[in-house]
Amino acid sequence: MAVQPRLADHHPDRPLPTGHRHPSIECIQDPSYTRVQLNPGCSMPSCSPMSASHHRPPPDMRAFQVLAPGRTELVETDDPAPGPGEVLLQVAATGVCHSDVFIRQAPPMLGMSLPVTLGHEIVGVVREAGPGGDWAAGSQVAVYVLRGCGSCSACKRGADNLCRTGYRGIGTHTDGGLAEFVVVPARNLVDASGLDATTAAPLTDAGLTAFHSVRSAASLTDDWSRTLVIGVGGLGHLALQMVLATTEAEVITVDAHEGKLELAARLGAHHVVPAGAAAANAVRDLVHGREIDVVLDFVGADDTLDLAAQVTNRGSAIVVAGLGGGALGFEATSAGRLMPEVALRRVSAGSRTELAELFELVRRTGIRPEVKCYPLDRAAEAVDAVEAGRILGRAVVLP
Ligand SMILES: [Zn+2]
Ligand SMILES: [Zn+2]
Repeated sequence: MAVQPRLADHHPDRPLPTGHRHPSIECIQDPSYTRVQLNPGCSMPSCSPMSASHHRPPPDMRAFQVLAPGRTELVETDDPAPGPGEVLLQVAATGVCHSDVFIRQAPPMLGMSLPVTLGHEIVGVVREAGPGGDWAAGSQVAVYVLRGCGSCSACKRGADNLCRTGYRGIGTHTDGGLAEFVVVPARNLVDASGLDATTAAPLTDAGLTAFHSVRSAASLTDDWSRTLVIGVGGLGHLALQMVLATTEAEVITVDAHEGKLELAARLGAHHVVPAGAAAANAVRDLVHGREIDVVLDFVGADDTLDLAAQVTNRGSAIVVAGLGGGALGFEATSAGRLMPEVALRRVSAGSRTELAELFELVRRTGIRPEVKCYPLDRAAEAVDAVEAGRILGRAVVLP
């Protein structure tokens, strides 16, 4: 039976399938650490966060910055002030992405100017809006990570990921969310009301890219009967939940780490297969041949692309979100590795509109990331843990 993900239609709430258990949240407590109060009890009459100057942040805030290539530090810095079209957020939670491992090295290809505050998966509360930054104080919002030119046709429809002139990144080219406060363009904000900040933060990048991958595959094929998710990391474990919540697909997951396969099984994957030379045969055995309809590859290495080619057939779709440096040449020959009529697409992030749609899906279905949280003064430890592959799901820093 052909099945297609119901990602944007207004179908009734659909609980995650039987066998699915919610991801866990583990938080590191630091007794020496006092959390900034998001909403301090105030005895002033007719106090509102917008009007009350006594609610302005203290003159200095803590921020986890890249000071030189490979050198990061938690520093005290001036509190930022929003300019025209900008908004000051009090950060509630910021996810740590594998890209942060790369960004902290400030490689010349990124064209960064230092110092810069790291962190691009941000959920926070609006504290102050600059002129034209139309957001009410007190709103819980998420930050769309990319800053396109803002004026091309792609940017105008909220798809900064398709900006023809390229884009800049919050937490790369401008200060990010591993801090107590951050100033961001108002046009990058998406309503995150009703969502838990800790689990919503990773949705802004890991979740968005996973959602865009699922969406992209849905534009390439309408048959999702047998879906293969390669890589059950930050993105893959969310994509797995999206496929389970929105299709009737039989889902197979492949990963090199036993803990990640256990997570996939806990989240409801129908089959888990260890990565390696035997993976293609194991997958084909499970589906009785080259019968995978959709492959979502969150690794993008030579062997995962090869696996995708070996299990797909006419009419299948392969979407690659991973940046593992692999290659799968385009061969215009009947002897090529890819079967004819296989659609192949490489994706990057997603649009601002898709982030809002993802939040709607999350509100309907309860999809959420597996999270391990760290206090801001242990942000370096969080990035190290991501680099070492020790995080199941996503690391999140709470300032
Ligand atoms: Zn990222
Ligand atoms: Zn643009």
